[in-house]
Amino acid sequence: MLLQITTTHKPATDLGYLLHKHPDKFQSIDLSIGKGHIFYPESSENKTTVAILLDIDPIDMVRGRNRSNNFSLGQYVNDRPYVASSFMSVALSKAFSTAMNGKCSNKPDLVEVKMPFEVNLSVLPAPKGGENLIRRLFEPLGYYVEVERHILDEKFKDWGESKYYTVKLSNTITTQELLQHLYVLIPALDNDKHYYVSQNEIEKLLEKGKGWLSSHPEMEEITRRYLINLGSLSRQAISRLNEEEGIEEEGTISQEEKERKETLHQKRLKLVLEQIKKSGAESVIDLGCGEGKLIRMLLKEKQFKRITGTDVSYNELTKAKDRLHWDEMAPRQKERISLFQGALTYKDKRLEGYDAAAIVEVIEHLDENRLKSFERVVFEFAKPKTVVLTTPNGEYNVLYENMEENAMRHTDHRFEWTRKQFEKWANKVAINNNYKVEFLPVGEEDSKLGAPSQMAIFTYGN
Ligand code: SAH
Repeated sequence: MLLQITTTHKPATDLGYLLHKHPDKFQSIDLSIGKGHIFYPESSENKTTVAILLDIDPIDMVRGRNRSNNFSLGQYVNDRPYVASSFMSVALSKAFSTAMNGKCSNKPDLVEVKMPFEVNLSVLPAPKGGENLIRRLFEPLGYYVEVERHILDEKFKDWGESKYYTVKLSNTITTQELLQHLYVLIPALDNDKHYYVSQNEIEKLLEKGKGWLSSHPEMEEITRRYLINLGSLSRQAISRLNEEEGIEEEGTISQEEKERKETLHQKRLKLVLEQIKKSGAESVIDLGCGEGKLIRMLLKEKQFKRITGTDVSYNELTKAKDRLHWDEMAPRQKERISLFQGALTYKDKRLEGYDAAAIVEVIEHLDENRLKSFERVVFEFAKPKTVVLTTPNGEYNVLYENMEENAMRHTDHRFEWTRKQFEKWANKVAINNNYKVEFLPVGEEDSKLGAPSQMAIFTYGN
C-alpha cells in the first residue's frame, strides 16, 4: 500500500522540515505487524513528494501475538497489506508525529502555512458507501476529489465492481490539517481496525479531529465508522463532539437546531405518554425503547403497573439500565419493570399481553422490505389494544437549515415519509389487522409542510 503526498509550495523542500524527515534518507518505522518505509521519490524547490509504503505481513497478523480475532482479518489471505487502513493511520502518526501535533522546531512559522497538497492513495476501501461516501467525507473539508473504482478481477469482468478505489485528493491547507484528516478519514472509510477498539480510541479521534470534526456535516457517520460501529463508544464520542461544537459556536444555528430537536423529542414523548394514559392502559411495552427515556416517564405514573422495554441493541439497554439506576432501584419499583433484547421483525411471545405499545421513532430504522414482518409481529401476533407510533415527517426537512437537500435527519434512517405515505401505510396496517387509526401532528406545525414528526394511534377492534 502506497500513500504519496506532494506539494508545489515554494520552496517545496519545506515539506522535509515540516515532516521531520530528511528527503535524502530512506527511513523505516516498526509497526505492530510489518514496517512502514518513508522516502521521497521527488524533492526539488518546485515539487516535493513524500511516500509511505506499508509492508504488512499477513502471516504475522494471523500467527503473531497481535493476532486479530476479526474473522476477515484472521485469514492468511486478506486485503490488509494492499489497502489504506488503520495501519496507515498508525504509520502516519508514528512517522510524522511532530507535524501531526502542529510543531516544527527548525521552521516554526511553516506550521501555520497553508500549502497546495496532492495526495495519492493507491487503494482505499470504502465498503457501504463507495465513491459517494469518499466525497461526502473529503469534499466538505475543501478537497477536490478524483476517484477511480476497481473491478474485482480484470480477468473475470462479470464478477463486478469491488469496494476498492484509487483516490486523488487536492487541497490547500496546513500540513497538520492534512495529516489529521487522513489519520481519521482513512480508517473511517475502511470501517475496520487491526486492533482492539476501546475507550482510548475516542480520545484519539477527538484529539485528531480537533477543530474540524465537530462541525463536519458527516461527523456522526465518521465517528461511527471510525469506532467500527460500536454503539456506546460512538454515542459518547458524538455527544462530546456536539458539546465541543456547542462551546465553540454558541448561539449559532446548529446549537439552536440541536435545542429544537431536543425539545421536539421531549414534546413527542409527552404526547406519547398522554395518549397511552388516555387509553386507560395498565401495562405498556416500549418497542425500540433505546436508552429508556419514555420508560422513565411511564415509571412516574401510578396508572402503569407493568412496564417493559425492548430494543435490538444491547448497548441501548445497558444505557437504559444505567439511566434508571437499576442496581439501586427499590424492589417495588423494580418489579414493575422489565427490559429485554429482541428484534421487532421476528415473532416473539414476550411481546404479547400488553394493553398498550409505544413505538417511538423506530420504524424509519427498519428496511422497508422488513416492514411487513414488523406489521405482523406487532399488529397480528403481539396485538396490544393500543399502539402509539411516531415517525419523522420528511416534508418538514426543508425547514432545517443545516440539512442538505434530500438528506435524512439521521444516518441510520432508511426512509422519512411524507404525511401521505405514512397515512397510507398506517391505514393499510389498521385495515389488515382490525385496528382503527387516528393521526396527530407532533411538534409545531408549519401551515404547508405540517409538523416535524407524526403520530398514529391505533386502537384494536371497532
Ligand atoms: N424509542 C426511543 C429510541 C428511538 S431510536 C426514543 O424515542 O428515544 C430507534 C431505536 O430503535 C434504537 O434504539 C434502535 O436500537 C431500535 N431498533 C432499530 N431497529 C430495531 C429492531 N428491528 N427491533 C428493535 N429495535 C430496533
